Amino acid sequence: MPKKLAAGNWKMNGLRQALDEVRALHDACPDARCDIVICPPATLIGPMVEVSNDMQIEVGGQDCHANTSGAHTGDISAPMLADSGASYVILGHSERRASYGETDAQVRAKTTSAWNADLTAIVCIGETLEQWEAGQTLDVVGRQLQGSTPDGATSETLVIAYEPVWAIGTGKTPTLEEIGAVHGFIRDALVKRFGEEGQAMRIVYGGSMNPKNASDIAGIPNVDGGLVGGASLKASDFCHIVKALD
Ligand code: PGA
Repeated sequence: MPKKLAAGNWKMNGLRQALDEVRALHDACPDARCDIVICPPATLIGPMVEVSNDMQIEVGGQDCHANTSGAHTGDISAPMLADSGASYVILGHSERRASYGETDAQVRAKTTSAWNADLTAIVCIGETLEQWEAGQTLDVVGRQLQGSTPDGATSETLVIAYEPVWAIGTGKTPTLEEIGAVHGFIRDALVKRFGEEGQAMRIVYGGSMNPKNASDIAGIPNVDGGLVGGASLKASDFCHIVKALD
């Protein structure tokens, strides 16, 4: 079974003072057995890498450009994230797909760029409420999975985050059975495409994961961790989730 991953997505939250939460997280769960990564806003990546230097906490970006450098005002490249000390990057988050019209092809290109910079890509896929209600979840997830990930993925370079869009920040989640069905479907697709590596690849769940539901979600077959937004901002909440994944 893959080692579980607790990934925190801080989104556009956090000034320097928020680094105290990283210290508090380390103090609250110093011997975590799962991998922990926090993806703060880009402004905090360097400072967070310094703070977490001697801790078992890795740092990631929330997006990168597909190119390595150039005339792309406001963007950040994968080598820049790596240069700041990041080791992961979230790609294709539904908020970016919705706000910036990111396509599967763009997410795939960004993933290749992330790999070239030795970053592990956390590629997000998931259906909207309308698609869920129309029973299209597996079609959408299958299409996004195929389109957003390059060939040659390994369990070291790729993490898949299944995040139903309607569950993000809403307090709503699918049932445990529904999550299990989608993760099982993703596992089958990964094994079919990547063989043994697909078996070892981590599939994490995201969308209103919190200290109360984390243990139940962590116990579902083929759930190898969580991508946690709101509940990753407070060390005490995130530590509960880390412990549930341990
Ligand atoms: P949430 O966000 O945990 O606040 O629902 C998850 C995410 O967007 O990655």
